[in-house]
Amino acid sequence: MVNVSHPVTLIPGDGIGPEVAEATVRAVNATGVSIDWQRADLNASIIAKSGMVLPPHVIESLERTHVGLKGPVTTPIGGGFSSVNVALRKHFDLYANVRPVHSLPGLKTRFTDVTIDMVIFRENTEDLYSGLEHEVVKDVVTSLKVITRTASIRIAEYAFDFAKKAGRKKITAIHKANIMKLADGLFLRCCREIAQKHPEIEYKELIVDNASMQLVIRPETFDLLLLPNLYGDIVSDLAAGLVGGLGVVPGANMGDGDAVFEAVHGSAPDIAGKGLANPTALMLSSVLMLTHLGEHAAAKSLRSAIERVYSEQKHLTQDVGGKATTDEFTDAVINNLH
Ligand code: NAD
Repeated sequence: MVNVSHPVTLIPGDGIGPEVAEATVRAVNATGVSIDWQRADLNASIIAKSGMVLPPHVIESLERTHVGLKGPVTTPIGGGFSSVNVALRKHFDLYANVRPVHSLPGLKTRFTDVTIDMVIFRENTEDLYSGLEHEVVKDVVTSLKVITRTASIRIAEYAFDFAKKAGRKKITAIHKANIMKLADGLFLRCCREIAQKHPEIEYKELIVDNASMQLVIRPETFDLLLLPNLYGDIVSDLAAGLVGGLGVVPGANMGDGDAVFEAVHGSAPDIAGKGLANPTALMLSSVLMLTHLGEHAAAKSLRSAIERVYSEQKHLTQDVGGKATTDEFTDAVINNLH
């Protein structure tokens, strides 16, 4: 069999990014899969020096490889440069944000007695993330919420296609169309249009506030969730909280030709450089990446190894109740690869 080497752009990021990226590269390489890692550094100081959120070396690398694995990048709040993630999603038209949220065996959470297994599909390019803000007069600001048929149809199609391929049974579209009748109304009409083409998949709708409550009361009843950008952002973090927090949930930003896989947590400056970071989220993101690359055996093997380490509970990091360092956790994952 020919051993194909997959080119992948590795963006370690900053804060704990380089630590979790190194751990993930070690674990992926240990599966035996051949990845040609092409490192593209991007952090707050590079952005400040170049004056560009997406410097050319990052764009050129991703244009070559079409696949990225990315750690978090610090973004200033309430001023300074705009988010790298938003820029990446817009530049490469990564319109579908996919976040699988699964219970990890052995990980104690407030919801340990239920099995949570949902996938969140968040529209990634528009809504209140259009960045169109305007100070009308002093102390009066408007932010434009942009919803288009094109973007709503393609995220709905993406979610229904996924459901069909993965044999999933139910999609819940989440909205606030009772208040934003035009914007969320358009989003819902698009979801309904695509749902009608897939009668085999149960389609439901929930208003976002009710959905938030239902997610906490009966998370096990949710299968696939389909949301516009802002509700998707908030609901995905809520869902992450149900299974142990941001440190253990992976993410994928998918376009038609390009894909960037990333942990959804931030750069965690409070623990950066201390060897305490939990690399699970980026490792699970690399499992999604391996699946995308067609390396199904390596993906399965890495996921099972991570799950075994959680089941054994001997080498967990501090954020999930253990005492292990990033390296010790990573060694345990590698030792559990079969
Ligand atoms: P954060 O996710 O960095 O940290 C929140 C808390 O969770 C902290 O206590 C941190 O120590 C802990 N934590 C996060 N990831 C962890 C991990 N893997 N292992 C162990 N503990 C972990 O969120 P924040 O403090 O709101 O943001 C810090 C910076 O990160 C900000 O500049 C923000 O803009 C940026 N950010 C970047 C991304 C990204 O690039 N994808 C995402 C979110 C936030």
